[in-house]
Amino acid sequence: MEFADGEDRLLSSTKSESDIEENILRPKTMEEYVGQDKVKENLAVYMAAAKARGEALDHVLLYGPPGLGKTTLAHIIAGTMGTQIKVTSGPAIERAGDLAAILTNLNEGDVLFIDEIHRLNHTVEEILYSAMEDYALDIIVGKGPSARNIRFSLKRFTLIGATTRAGMLSSPLRDRFGILCRLDMYSPSELLRIVERSARTLGIAIERDGGYEIARRSRGTPRIANRLLKRVRDFSLVLGSSTVSLADAQKALARMEIDELGLDETDRNLLRALIEKFNGGPAGLDTLAATVNEDVNTIEDVYEPYLLQLGFIARTPRGRVCLKGGYEHMGVKMPESVRKQLSVFDADDR
Ligand code: ADP
Repeated sequence: MEFADGEDRLLSSTKSESDIEENILRPKTMEEYVGQDKVKENLAVYMAAAKARGEALDHVLLYGPPGLGKTTLAHIIAGTMGTQIKVTSGPAIERAGDLAAILTNLNEGDVLFIDEIHRLNHTVEEILYSAMEDYALDIIVGKGPSARNIRFSLKRFTLIGATTRAGMLSSPLRDRFGILCRLDMYSPSELLRIVERSARTLGIAIERDGGYEIARRSRGTPRIANRLLKRVRDFSLVLGSSTVSLADAQKALARMEIDELGLDETDRNLLRALIEKFNGGPAGLDTLAATVNEDVNTIEDVYEPYLLQLGFIARTPRGRVCLKGGYEHMGVKMPESVRKQLSVFDADDR
């Protein structure tokens, strides 16, 4: 059986063709949605208040690394508000007319979910300003001296924007969201609940410690946990086990070259490059990406957040640096000169 990364990379936390089952696994209610307690509590208050006033919920911006549950949450919000949801994404809305068509078709209280909202083009984004603020659409008809501005009014809708990079949103757009929610990575025990729930839904028998092994190596990300569960299930099937045990999970994860902390070959290449080629750094993101032969955006969205969370690397104004934990994980002793230079970034030395 082939477990190496093909085009559908195992650790990628972005969506792929093989995620058709993703919709089946999506929790449908706030109760089923595991973790993110602060976000859920706040949203529950805002939704109850909007309902009591008989108004649409204020616009919501969800941000955080891919696979943490932004799309799922948007569906749950629409479900809770009892409204329809229209799903699209920043790059899919090419022209102002595309957005106008979507907006004019929304009903009172409907949710418009725009994934990757930081990738909207400028013209489209400008149309969104008045739509969000005044529920109006300003369209210029005609050209030259005869051009006229026509204003259409829209139904009061809720825009839910999702982004992996809140910092890449222009401030006029960011300021128009009344509710900002940052999604955090999940703890292993939260991921275990997700793995067990998904196993039940998919009819996979799994022992608790087998599930925990997957959970703790899923980089805090539900999408990765679900994907690893499916691969581990394949592995145990081939081994002839009817139930996924701890040993099955360990063997499968080892075959996938996912280490004890959930790091894969690319993570290790990144750490190795920083240590061996750049003497601990700092190294610019572009240089680093070229060295490990990886796309800059993938590094920033998928790999870096977890390495930062583990405290293995840090971002500095001059580039990325490898911290003590990163050296230790790679089994390399940090040279004294590097230790002195980097001590300001290392939590242990602070
Ligand atoms: P994002 O939009 O942030 O990339 P998604 O909402 O598509 O992430 O979530 C990816 C998958 O992870 C979903 O199919 C869902 O099954 C699972 N998932 C995400 N968040 C949760 C959660 N809080 N509880 C249970 N499952 C979750």
